[in-house]
Amino acid sequence: MIVTFEPGVSDDAVAAVVQLAERYPGVVPQLYQFDGASEHITELHLVGDTVAVPTDGFESVPGVRRVVRVSTKYRIIGRHRPDDEAFAFEYNGVRFARDALHVFAGLCAVDTREHIDAMMRALAAEGVVTTRMGAYKPRTSPYDFQGLGAACLPWVFELAGRHGIKVVAMEVTHARHIDEIVEALERAGEPTGVMLQIGTRNAQNFELLKVVGQQDRFPVLFKRGMGLSLDESFNAAEYVANHGNPNIVFCLRGVKTHLGEPHRNLVDFAHVPVVLRQTRLPVCIDPSHSVGRPYIAPDGLPDVFHAIGQGVIAGASMVLVDFHPHREVALCDGPQALRLQQLPALLAYTRRLRETYTELVAMGAG
Ligand code: PEP
Ligand code: MN
Repeated sequence: MIVTFEPGVSDDAVAAVVQLAERYPGVVPQLYQFDGASEHITELHLVGDTVAVPTDGFESVPGVRRVVRVSTKYRIIGRHRPDDEAFAFEYNGVRFARDALHVFAGLCAVDTREHIDAMMRALAAEGVVTTRMGAYKPRTSPYDFQGLGAACLPWVFELAGRHGIKVVAMEVTHARHIDEIVEALERAGEPTGVMLQIGTRNAQNFELLKVVGQQDRFPVLFKRGMGLSLDESFNAAEYVANHGNPNIVFCLRGVKTHLGEPHRNLVDFAHVPVVLRQTRLPVCIDPSHSVGRPYIAPDGLPDVFHAIGQGVIAGASMVLVDFHPHREVALCDGPQALRLQQLPALLAYTRRLRETYTELVAMGAG
């Protein structure tokens, strides 16, 4: 059961509801606060056996807006009613919300200082303040390049500061990596921010999810499990919120099946509206890991562009996309990377799609 309070509710009113909830044996009240798209949200979640708990006692307490019985398991990130406010948050000057659009273009795996510099310089020239930089790479084979790890963080953060990058999306595969990131950021004088990425292979690494949930310094980019249903992935993302951090963006990155061939994964961006409907999270798409190939369509646009089209026209508000200054020498996923000279076109394409999406939504479905 979820009790939603009116914005600006007093502490006394919240305490009165907590006291009322505590009268029911086996019911544990848990208080949550998050930023919604237009207002601050305060909710009390009644966890445990609430079947016999009547809603009307709570509904009549001043300051309570409504009381909803939730049947879904992802009670925090879930969108339980059509008028549930979507989450929105600001991090290091960048606002993440369903009505925003951010392109995180960058290196799948950091290799050299020169490549970071070239990438970030190109982004700065386009006024882009968000990037992706993989330092810790989970690879299928132990003989493949595993990422430079903590060794490359000083370059990444120093150059990010120099080029005005505000948020770097970076996968972590172990709790220790978060400490390394914090240490490197502090040593560099906090020149930028980091969004912790949970990769598809760790989508159900519950201990890691708990750790990124227990900290609220960094927002989290949660990637759908490549072999998981949406329902399973939402439950996994709920671990992050449930441990205290609701600043999550949910990322679709394709699902593993040979039916996706010749693409690396089956592009699942038709699920963007499903994520928007069933959760309160902003949605990201990763066309690079979905398509995974350098194919160009007969119309001259790369398949990666077309995949972005599918996701953004369906309401995605973040795009995570691989670029590389010299993809022939990239140490990870070179073939799927776009070239730096494609960046202006990609940004123009993505922004136009977003504008068109907004216009189409205003037109409605008849
Ligand atoms: C990545 O974005 O670098 C990555 C490894 O993606 P995924 O977890 O989706 O495979
Ligand atoms: Mn990759």
